[in-house]
Amino acid sequence: MPMEELGCSSGWGEQGKREDRRLAGVCGLANSGNSCYMNAVLQCLFSTVPLVEHLLSSHKRSQRNSPVAGVFVHLFQEVWQGQGGTSFTSPGEMRALVSSLHPQFNNQSQQDAQELLLLLLNALHDDLKNKGERRQTGSSQRLCLGRKSLSSAPAAGDSTVVTRLFEGQLSYQMLCLRCDGHSHSNQVFTILSLPIPLDSYKCSLQDCLSLFFQQSTLTCGDQKLCPECGVKRDTAVLTSMAKPPEILVLHLKRFGCHGSEKRKLRTNVLFSLDSLDLTPFLSRPSANHTSYSLYAVVNHTGDLDMGHYTALCHSTLSSSWHHFDDTTVSEVVDFLVQSPNAYILLYSRQPFHRPTIPQI
Ligand SMILES: [Zn+2]
Repeated sequence: MPMEELGCSSGWGEQGKREDRRLAGVCGLANSGNSCYMNAVLQCLFSTVPLVEHLLSSHKRSQRNSPVAGVFVHLFQEVWQGQGGTSFTSPGEMRALVSSLHPQFNNQSQQDAQELLLLLLNALHDDLKNKGERRQTGSSQRLCLGRKSLSSAPAAGDSTVVTRLFEGQLSYQMLCLRCDGHSHSNQVFTILSLPIPLDSYKCSLQDCLSLFFQQSTLTCGDQKLCPECGVKRDTAVLTSMAKPPEILVLHLKRFGCHGSEKRKLRTNVLFSLDSLDLTPFLSRPSANHTSYSLYAVVNHTGDLDMGHYTALCHSTLSSSWHHFDDTTVSEVVDFLVQSPNAYILLYSRQPFHRPTIPQI
């Protein structure tokens, strides 16, 4: 992918700071030992304008009773309010937070970016819902799809900026294949983990979505309890989108098992830049538009264990894309809408406006 170094021709100042000011919201992140997975995820959150604006406007760093939000606010301030104009910063405080939240991340080894993203969103939600952002909503069963290993899914019934932005709802229509009895359930999600068609060199994101939403039959150990029969039966399931989220986070399931062997799928996935259409997957026809624009991508290059994460994020201030590789930031001249490395894609339903964040 052709790239151009971000224009920073001047040297370092006496305190190790760039003498020229960088673009607000565009800031490299130091790698503290295999922490590229965290840096890539944080870049995507830095470019989530409504989240940044909300936290910077409603939470103060001094709010000691919101430790998670406090760490986010501190980082957002550094990146968006350009303290000192440094070209990169260190997310050490965030790393310490993540380690304290989940021991799995308390070491120097590479971790899964998607698991981290969900962990961060859950932690932020849990922090905010207990601290004055409480607003009751309907009671849906809340689960995080594709991520059952971490059990920190937020409780149902509390609305925060996290749920307002990232939460969608799936609908499952189930048909018992013995008695033809119908049943229905809903499931809340924050990240959709999409399967990639096997044995294909190239596919589209729409193919992955179609595979996710296609009718499936649950048999053997996956049988569902039929309310009519009173026992578990083979069940046909039709999945649809009951409530599309404001921000749609799609995780491509590149890591999987082939027999007993772990492997990474290097399928070249073509994705849409500004017209990802969810209409075919909606439970009900909607008058509101459900076409999404891409604003951030987490890439994973290399092998399963020895890989490297980077991020591509859109800046609403410069209307351009930047590539973030830890401390190295470069402007992307020719954005390619296909990649064998795209791992997480973040789409927004409404294009982000130019953020109004005062410089300090
Ligand atoms: Zn039945």
